[in-house]
Amino acid sequence: MTMTRRDFLSAAAAVAATPVIGASARAPAPRDADIVVIGAGAAGVAAARRIMAANRKVIVIEAADRIGGRCLTDTATFGVPFDRGARWMHNPDANPMIKPARAAGLDISTAPQGQKIRIGRRYARAGETEEFLAALVRANRAIDDASRGKTDVSCASVLPKDLGDWAATAEFLLGANATGKDLKEISVMDKARAQDRSAAIACRQGLGTLIAKLGDQIPLSLSTRASRITWSRRDVLVETPAGKIAARAAIIAVSSNVLAAGNIKFDPDIPKRYLDAAARLSLGSYDRIALELPGNPLGLARDEIIIEQSNSTRTALLLANMAGSSLCSIDVAGSFGRDLSAQGEPAMVAFAVEWLTKLFGSDAAAAVKKSSATRWDAAPFVLGAMSVAEPGGQPSRRILAEPIGCMFLAGEATHETLWGTVDGAWETGERAAEAALRRIGALRPIEPVAPAAPPKRQRRMAPVRPGAPIN
Ligand SMILES: Cc1cc2nc3c(=O)[nH]c(=O)nc-3n(C[C@H](O)[C@H](O)[C@H](O)COP(=O)(O)OP(=O)(O)OC[C@H]3O[C@@H](n4cnc5c(N)ncnc54)[C@H](O)[C@@H]3O)c2cc1C
Repeated sequence: MTMTRRDFLSAAAAVAATPVIGASARAPAPRDADIVVIGAGAAGVAAARRIMAANRKVIVIEAADRIGGRCLTDTATFGVPFDRGARWMHNPDANPMIKPARAAGLDISTAPQGQKIRIGRRYARAGETEEFLAALVRANRAIDDASRGKTDVSCASVLPKDLGDWAATAEFLLGANATGKDLKEISVMDKARAQDRSAAIACRQGLGTLIAKLGDQIPLSLSTRASRITWSRRDVLVETPAGKIAARAAIIAVSSNVLAAGNIKFDPDIPKRYLDAAARLSLGSYDRIALELPGNPLGLARDEIIIEQSNSTRTALLLANMAGSSLCSIDVAGSFGRDLSAQGEPAMVAFAVEWLTKLFGSDAAAAVKKSSATRWDAAPFVLGAMSVAEPGGQPSRRILAEPIGCMFLAGEATHETLWGTVDGAWETGERAAEAALRRIGALRPIEPVAPAAPPKRQRRMAPVRPGAPIN
């Protein structure tokens, strides 16, 4: 991923509030369909919409009692939208969710970009911020350079050794905060292939609300967990506690951790390489600790982001005064976030208060009126935050995108460049739907591309670097 010097925080700002229960309980699922979709996260919703657009019968079954998966807007806890999962979309020019979201009456706008660094109780001076930006640029360049090598290695192993006081902060921002894992667990090839995520787009009503709204019309059975799939090249039979569903193809849009954990049984077993691939793309840890801080005791602007110059992984990212409210989110991630969230919500809130006290003084921390923390690692139907490849694991994304009989995997982990994002999940849902529609003969097969005629004269081509980020 190439970062410009000015957008050092936006790419890392994967940030998220009372669950909007997407769809109400609906009638029992029908017993057959052309295509059955397992999971109603962004990928499953996108897949179902594409199948409906092709006038084919689809059923979506969702284990949880709500639509959206890792997109969940909570409006009950604080009375304002708090995205407990994904908060921002990316790619304003190509994002396929923006048009239907606007058509559904949602407010979509560019997310504010105010970002500051705190060094103890003061803000970084201009020169210090420049130093940090330079350190980030060098770290990114080292990762990009290493990704062109023959062997995949960890991002941590190629970082410049002279990042000085900024080393731990750069590691937090590029690793835990951007992907949910520490740099030592992340493949340089996966990181370098990640498409630029710096242009953040917000939905005023919340990204969870957006996905729920876009899934409003899909035939959906909530609280219906797929437990076993009997499959062949021609059809599938999906077992759920509410009965069996027969279909000519299936789209399995669950997280890589759910797949790797074997929570869905397959008969016959699916080839081991798919389970291995899912395990190599395991989910990082990313959680939000939301604090209601009335009266703006931190003195920060709307949607301002604060990071600290830290010397360890025990740090966080603050998003203040979310959408003009008094709600602030302190995000923890990576190995530190994982350990903290395993200790439970009181420990998470205690850390957030301690961290605020360290940076803004005890009066600010004493102003906390209400709190709530997410614990995505413990969410039974997701089991983590976002996928990122371990060293050597980048090709696993392509493996997951290969069909298994008449089954097609979808979800953010199956996207080669937009992994870990809602946009990526959405695209893979549409891609899997098209493949499944083709499989059942509802779309024309892709025409093989005719071999190009040999060029009359040999021309020198501009060198194209494989895996170069599309900026
Ligand atoms: C805290 C946090 C912050 C994030 N911030 C951002 C951000 O700002 N921007 C961004 O782009 N991305 C962000 N992400 C990542 C983003 O949320 C995910 O990439 C995306 O939502 C994944 O969608 P998905 O459809 O692939 O999977 P999921 O959302 O996990 O959907 C899978 C669905 O399958 C269901 N399911 C599981 N097992 C079964 C079963 N056996 N039977 C039936 N259903 C089943 C699950 O309940 C779930 O609803 C964030 C994630 C987290 C956790």
